[in-house]
Amino acid sequence: MRVGTGYDSHRLVVDRKLILGGAEIPFDRGLMGHSDADVLTHAIIDALIGALGLGDIGRHFPDTDDRWKDASSVGMLAHVLTLMQEKGFDLVWLDTTLVIEKPKIAPHIPAMKSALSKAGINSDLINIKAKTNEGMGFVGKGEGVEAHAVCLLRLINK
Ligand code: MG
Repeated sequence: MRVGTGYDSHRLVVDRKLILGGAEIPFDRGLMGHSDADVLTHAIIDALIGALGLGDIGRHFPDTDDRWKDASSVGMLAHVLTLMQEKGFDLVWLDTTLVIEKPKIAPHIPAMKSALSKAGINSDLINIKAKTNEGMGFVGKGEGVEAHAVCLLRLINK
């Protein structure tokens, strides 16, 4: 068994779509970044890369690489799931937390699970939680969004 943790944050800005867990969420601002800045999917990717002992997301998807400019993070996740299979690991469980002041996330969780399943994450093996930061710090002031993820992997063939 292997565990991995992932953390990410991105700044909220105008004139960007808000993409979380691969789903587009209606809101007047979105996240700034080289890719689609999907903070939840980036935290999931880093948890998986951590469990696989393959460094970090920046090593696999450098922001100097034009292939990943405005790229779908779900596509990046699909690539990491291929690496996981190549190393002989299977996902046992993935737990995640989004920390976001606005908008309300709960109604969008089924759409996120559906979008992540298209990358290859079994919807029965992922939990998505969302909470506010009670008005405190950069999340509370609406300056940005953060996400955390923990995964458990099992080696199925050596
Ligand atoms: Mg990121």
